[in-house]
Amino acid sequence: MGSRRPSRRAERRRKAEGADVQENWEILIPAERIAASVRELGERLSEIYRGRRPVVIPLLRGGFMFAADLVRAMSTDLQIEFLGAASYGEQTTTSGEVRLTLDTTLPLAGRDVLLVEDIVDTGLTLAYIQQLIASRKPASLRTVALLDKKARRIVEASVDHAVFQVPDRFVFGYGLDSPGGFGRNLPDVVAMRPDPETESTGGR
Ligand code: IMP
Repeated sequence: MGSRRPSRRAERRRKAEGADVQENWEILIPAERIAASVRELGERLSEIYRGRRPVVIPLLRGGFMFAADLVRAMSTDLQIEFLGAASYGEQTTTSGEVRLTLDTTLPLAGRDVLLVEDIVDTGLTLAYIQQLIASRKPASLRTVALLDKKARRIVEASVDHAVFQVPDRFVFGYGLDSPGGFGRNLPDVVAMRPDPETESTGGR
């Protein structure tokens, strides 16, 4: 007796639950490399903000882990605020619409703002958020992104420091999650193994 192929419906259910994601990833950027590069960026930012008190704004949810490591690598005094944005909810392709899901509480006028983003993909989220912050008249606005997927950019969004360039593959881990919600707490940045069957995009 041979083993039977799973039915189409069972296969669809498995995918919706993220089973294929959990089984098909490989490490793209190991935790040690992330730690060294984030420390280095923290030191550069400490120089840039020496004698000032920036407001650091992690963009939730994906940017929380990067921001937590980054601020610990910064020696300047700083304040933390949070912004939340969602670009395409549970869908698997970008709708091109960005929604604010959480806003800051401190006035940003006259402040040095450091925006901390997990990954810049099409650039839509970042462009929207940068415009929002700029409308509040900060003294300066600088953006750092852990990952930059330049090949997918459709709108101009200025990234002052991108820690790693990544290829046009779905990546997650180190704060970023995958379809089905898996992987946010992985210590490494990982990527789906290339497979046309499992190609998809995700949300924050
Ligand atoms: P953008 O608006 O297309 O630049 O996408 C921004 C957001 O989409 C990021 O902040 C992520 O939350 C999410 N995103 C884009 N690409 C990926 C990916 O490869 N893995 C996980 N999340 C992603």
